[in-house]
Amino acid sequence: MDSSELIKARRSEPWREELRKKYKGKERSAFERVSMPSLEGAYRARNHEEVSLGLSQEQAMGEARRCLDCVDPTCMQGCPVSVHIPTFVKNIERGEFIEAARVIRETSSLPGVCGRVCPQEKQCEATCIYARKMGKPAVAIGFLERFASDREREAILAQAPEEGGTKPEKSSGKKVAVVGSGPAGLSCAGDLAKYGFEVTVFEALHELGGVLRYGIPEFRLPNEIVDFEIDRMKALGVKFETNTIIGKTMSYEDLKEEGYEAIFVGSGAGLPRFMHIPGENLVGVMSSNEYLTRVNLMRAGAPGSDTPVSKGKRVAVIGGGNTAMDSVRTALRLGADEAMIVYRRSEAEMPARLEEVHHAKEEGVQFMTLHNPVEYLDDGKGRVRAMRVERMELGEPDAGGRRSPVPTGEIEEVAVDEVIVSVGVSPNPLIPRNFSGLTVTKRDTIVVNPENNETDLPEVFAGGDIVRGGATVILAMGDGRKAAAGIRDYLSGK
Ligand code: FAD
Ligand code: SF4
Repeated sequence: MDSSELIKARRSEPWREELRKKYKGKERSAFERVSMPSLEGAYRARNHEEVSLGLSQEQAMGEARRCLDCVDPTCMQGCPVSVHIPTFVKNIERGEFIEAARVIRETSSLPGVCGRVCPQEKQCEATCIYARKMGKPAVAIGFLERFASDREREAILAQAPEEGGTKPEKSSGKKVAVVGSGPAGLSCAGDLAKYGFEVTVFEALHELGGVLRYGIPEFRLPNEIVDFEIDRMKALGVKFETNTIIGKTMSYEDLKEEGYEAIFVGSGAGLPRFMHIPGENLVGVMSSNEYLTRVNLMRAGAPGSDTPVSKGKRVAVIGGGNTAMDSVRTALRLGADEAMIVYRRSEAEMPARLEEVHHAKEEGVQFMTLHNPVEYLDDGKGRVRAMRVERMELGEPDAGGRRSPVPTGEIEEVAVDEVIVSVGVSPNPLIPRNFSGLTVTKRDTIVVNPENNETDLPEVFAGGDIVRGGATVILAMGDGRKAAAGIRDYLSGK
């Protein structure tokens, strides 16, 4: 059944009619959008507890009533993995929380993650009819996704372990290797296991999850959510090998010799970019990647750490994306007295999720928009003591539609004792260099066929940030799923 047939079939389910009669569209649209309960700003800025607390059952069912169950659910067009949004939302309205989670899982392998970190305001919620045509806040699809997946997790964790096993009965006997355990690799591995392949995920680091583990902090995405999803993959029969760098510990040829008939590359884009301005090598200036990885993966911010990270008191984070917001909020939690975002455009152009900007402000982060650093100054002992920033103005829109920053020549000096540079990432060229035959772009991303994510090297598929450059969790997952279907077709000789 294609997706439009599925929408039709689902809409004609008898319970949908019952629900439609309960309120008229106008009555439904009169309910106000729910707010996400969260910890108080000043309190949470000093600890690592999860900031958003999740909706109560009453709040979730109340919010679900707002959904109009549209004949043409445009919200789904905004979802890169086409989650059947009205169906799961109406399940919640009826109190069928586990069924709601099941509907989400039909197309999304990491709902607890997506419900927390997807930029819904730019995706499904931006295309919801409320936002598009009615001038009202969209249905809180992300909050509801998180609600359903949290209820599912609680129910599964309460089961006896033998009840949770879902390993497919039939194996094709064919082995597939997945490189990288981020969202692209995990979603590809999960689907491949469901198709009956023997899947092994090779991960360079000692922990699994990619950016979900070492990038996004626990106050946004607790490790228990990532662990739960990985445990589900293990229950499906997926094997994981950590501390294995493909291209170093094992080569492409080693994988072929070990009998892997197809390979999915989801190795991400973990190489930080710098601005190449004077003073970037001073002590106290580092990339977001280094900072967040050390704090999240190596516990470098905890007392007694073997590899402590420096804890600045006046911290500037350069950039306006999610990584920048995570870094600046982490700096506060590590004891900064002042933490600021320095961004060369205005707040309207910031790529970060709205919720993260809002939360950062509530926690006391200062925003120095329309400014760009041009130099970091030495305290005489090789450590950063200040930065020189240039005031910018907004010019014409660039190729991506965002207005470009134009330098004004006005410079000011700002005292800082730590700078975290968060101006983008590039893929690590290790895999493209080791897998000869891959076509790569100037930006070191791998070129794939957009239909099935197949590369120019036979039997090798790729997706996520290694293909797109720095993108989003849901796009990486979508690539992983598409590649899994491509590998299935390829190995079954279609
Ligand atoms: P990754 O998550 O980077 O995973 C790649 C994995 O491959 C890593 O574990 C890496 O160690 C491993 N690997 C690399 N090379 C090798 C090798 N040679 N051999 C074996 N393993 C290898 N997106 C959102 O949608 N919402 C957000 O709120 C958000 N916040 C973010 C915050 C931060 C701090 C960062 C850094 C990114 C954020 N993103 C967010 C972006 C999102 O996390 C990425 O787009 C996504 O994780 C990409 O998934 P991936 O699987 O392609 O790569
Ligand atoms: Fe519900 Fe909005 Fe989707 Fe319509 S567009 S089905 S109101 S979530």
